[in-house]
Amino acid sequence: MPTGVPMANKQAKSSGFQWYCFRKAEGNQMVKRVLVVGGVAGGATCASRVRRLAEDAEIVVFDRGPYVSFANCGLPYYVGNVIEDEKKLLLASAELFKARFNIEVRTDNEVLSIDRERREIEVKRLQTGEVYRERYDALVLSPGATPIQPALPGADLPGIFVLRTIPDSRQIRSWIDDHKVERAVIVGGGLVGLEMAENLSRRGISVTVVEMLDQVLAPLDPEMAEPVQEHLIKNGVTLHLSDPLAGFEQSSAGGLVVKTKSGARLPAELVILSIGVRPEIKLAKESGLEIGNRGGIRVNEQMRTSDPNIWAVGDAVETQNIVTGEWGVVPLAGPANRQGRVAADSICGRDSKFRGVQGTAVCGLFGLTIATTGANEKTLRRLGITGYQKIYLHPAHHVAYYPGASPIHMKLLFSSDGGRILGAQAFGEQGVEKRIDVIAMAMQNGASVFDLEEAELCYAPQFGAAKDPVNMAGMIASNVLRGDSAMADWESLSSTKALVVDVREAEEFSAGHIPGAINLPLPQLRSRLNELPRDREIWVNCVVGQRAYYALRLLRQRGFTVKNLSGGFTTYKQIERRLGTAIGTSAT
Ligand SMILES: Cc1cc2nc3c(=O)[nH]c(=O)nc-3n(C[C@H](O)[C@H](O)[C@H](O)COP(=O)(O)OP(=O)(O)OC[C@H]3O[C@@H](n4cnc5c(N)ncnc54)[C@H](O)[C@@H]3O)c2cc1C
Repeated sequence: MPTGVPMANKQAKSSGFQWYCFRKAEGNQMVKRVLVVGGVAGGATCASRVRRLAEDAEIVVFDRGPYVSFANCGLPYYVGNVIEDEKKLLLASAELFKARFNIEVRTDNEVLSIDRERREIEVKRLQTGEVYRERYDALVLSPGATPIQPALPGADLPGIFVLRTIPDSRQIRSWIDDHKVERAVIVGGGLVGLEMAENLSRRGISVTVVEMLDQVLAPLDPEMAEPVQEHLIKNGVTLHLSDPLAGFEQSSAGGLVVKTKSGARLPAELVILSIGVRPEIKLAKESGLEIGNRGGIRVNEQMRTSDPNIWAVGDAVETQNIVTGEWGVVPLAGPANRQGRVAADSICGRDSKFRGVQGTAVCGLFGLTIATTGANEKTLRRLGITGYQKIYLHPAHHVAYYPGASPIHMKLLFSSDGGRILGAQAFGEQGVEKRIDVIAMAMQNGASVFDLEEAELCYAPQFGAAKDPVNMAGMIASNVLRGDSAMADWESLSSTKALVVDVREAEEFSAGHIPGAINLPLPQLRSRLNELPRDREIWVNCVVGQRAYYALRLLRQRGFTVKNLSGGFTTYKQIERRLGTAIGTSAT
């Protein structure tokens, strides 16, 4: 991989598939038989879009489960009783599909195999055991993904659950009620695992999260995950990080014991396994469709598989990342829905293309919102990409003078050459997802940090600022690229020969500062320039980087060599807590 940053949106051009289109549906109708395997996010979207484009098509949706179009994303909140009525999770019924869209939905019908030569599928009616065949002109696979279940001792003990379907959530709720659950262990600190942590806590259950990585929420960089971890701990969640699961035992008291590699034995009455999902590729694989090296069904930008009559969408497919160009499996509802729509367009002869994924995601935990889009720094490093820069900022979610302002802690990654936005992560109490969504959209359009600087966003005191956090991020990054500012590398703090100058007021400095820093408050800087070295680099620091930037501009124009410690002392605290030890410079 070159050290530069790859181009975006080069989906599947090289896969060598035969491009093939059904005839245009509108105005040139030909009755098609469209069969859809899986009737939830991707499948239901695709089926109903086909109907909107091809009124004469015959559309049948098969799902082996008892429901179609249910809200998987709502399941943790049903377990937590935030959603009290199970029926609210059902977004549409088979009857509604028939009445509204003339789509036949067959629940409790499992598709067993695909005969590609005869364009037929074999289906089993689960309630009767009857097996039958159905012919298709177009087949859509949206079978989702399966929760990973570790092959470890005791993994099949009662009280251990996964969460994927309404029946799963119903079982967990019943177990909680019937077994007076007081302690739960969640294995896996990803989005779903942590949503479950919050929801079980809500029900008064004491929660421990076991995670093999050294951080929760893998899409975040470690220094961004650290405050989230602290927040979880503050809200009563116990974290076992860097501690892989080793197995389960039945305890003598009748509950469970969760064992970890470190030797911990965690008692619990309930265990939720949330260690990720595996694309459901059985049908695709057995019928010889191309499977990518990340384990998902390989598709082109029209969501077509290696068979021109079969499309695949959702958690089961591999897609290309718009930032890194890497193929990957990104199990999120947004991409599944959009892919379903693209597949329907393609079936009906339209030239829609899926743009690729960027992993835009959000999670709410005990009042904290965490959101992310694009690549994180870990990924850029793993790919050997060095041509990037990063900034940290901590703007208020709306103007500070309007009551209730709270900070958004952001990290923005962008290419050194041209400022293309590569990724953003943020957390805070309010307004976080709005900023990440704006940046996500900018990224999809290949925008640069200069575009963020220029973005015209809505503003009134209770909603934002005339310089919105998104503008601020763009301005800080643009300043770096224009050479008006330069960012010092936090990781070099311990080894630098630079002089760290803290430009906050004396009281702020004495309340805490970077070891080795000297204090020279911004208002005194002009009159005390003679105290600063001209033959040595200066790193300026303040609370969030703003006063330090003013100092940097002043000093640079006076001939000093200066860099800003991005994000200031607030970022310093994040990094220090992450390392578990004070970092600083001895170079005073
Ligand atoms: C608890 C939970 C919370 C989530 N929260 C979020 C969130 O907040 N935000 C977000 O973006 N994403 C979230 N997701 C992920 C999101 O739900 C999925 O990405 C999305 O549902 C994928 O859609 P899909 O159509 O690919 O698969 P699914 O929605 O899983 O649907 C697949 C369907 O296919 C059926 N099926 C499989 N094989 C066969 C077969 N052989 N024959 C017949 N039927 C078959 C299955 O029964 C299933 O009903 C969450 C997922 C879970 C489980």
